[in-house]
Amino acid sequence: MDADCIAGNIAEVSERVRAAAEKVGRDPATVRLLAVSKTHPVEVVRAAAAAGQRDFGENYLQEAIDKIAATADLDLSWHFIGPIQSNKTRAIAGHFHWVHSVDRLKIARRLSEQRPPELPPLKVCLQVNISGEASKAGVEPDELPALAAAVAALPRLELHGLMAIPAPAEDEARQREPLARLAALFASLRETLPGLDTLSMGMSADLEAAIAEGATLVRIGTAIFGPRGT
Ligand SMILES: *Cc1c(COP(=O)(O)O)cnc(C)c1O
Repeated sequence: MDADCIAGNIAEVSERVRAAAEKVGRDPATVRLLAVSKTHPVEVVRAAAAAGQRDFGENYLQEAIDKIAATADLDLSWHFIGPIQSNKTRAIAGHFHWVHSVDRLKIARRLSEQRPPELPPLKVCLQVNISGEASKAGVEPDELPALAAAVAALPRLELHGLMAIPAPAEDEARQREPLARLAALFASLRETLPGLDTLSMGMSADLEAAIAEGATLVRIGTAIFGPRGT
C-alpha cells in the first residue's frame, strides 16, 4: 500500500472516530488512535508517521524490535499488544513504551524487574477475558481487582487501565455488550485506583461501538494498513 493511501486511510479512520465520539457527546480528542502495524513492513510505519501518526501497536516481538530499530530517527511510541511468554519479558521491557496485554502477576513482576533503570516506568494495561472464552488470553473479571492492586504496587510499572479483545459480533448492539462490561470493570477499579485513564478497546470492525462505550484508545490495523497477508 502506498503512502497516499495510508494517509487517506488514517484520515478516514480519524473521521470515523470523530463521528462516533460526537454521536455520544464525547470530545474526539479523548480517543487516541493506535495504528496496529503487525505483519506490515516498516515502510508503512514511516508513511503513517509522515501523516502524523505517533502510536504504533505490534504483536510479534522480533518483528517489532526490527521496526523499532529501523524508525529510531522518528519520535514514535511503541505498544506491545500480543500474548507475552515469560522468556520475552526482558526484550519487551527494554524496547516498548506501553504493554496492553499483561494478564498475570508473574509477567508483571518480570516486566517491572527487567525495565531498564534509565527508562521511565513501563505503562501497562491489564488484558481482561471479557467474552469468557476458555481459549482467550486475559485475566478473569473476578480476579481483576486483586491483580490490579498487585500490579499498581510494582515500582517500575505504571498501571493505566484495561484492554480486551471481545469475541467478534456482527451488529453494534451485540458488539457493545462485552465492551460495556469492560467499561463497568474500569469504572469500578477507578474507585480505588483513580489514576487509571486508559480503556483500550475497539478494532477496525467495532470502533464505533467501543467509542460509544467509553474507549479512550482504539487499536486499528486493517482499516489503516489493509488486510494482513499470512
Ligand atoms: C491485530 C490486532 C488489532 C487490530 O485489528 P484490526 O481488526 O486489523 O483493526 C487490535 N488489537 C489487537 C490486540 C490485535 O492483535
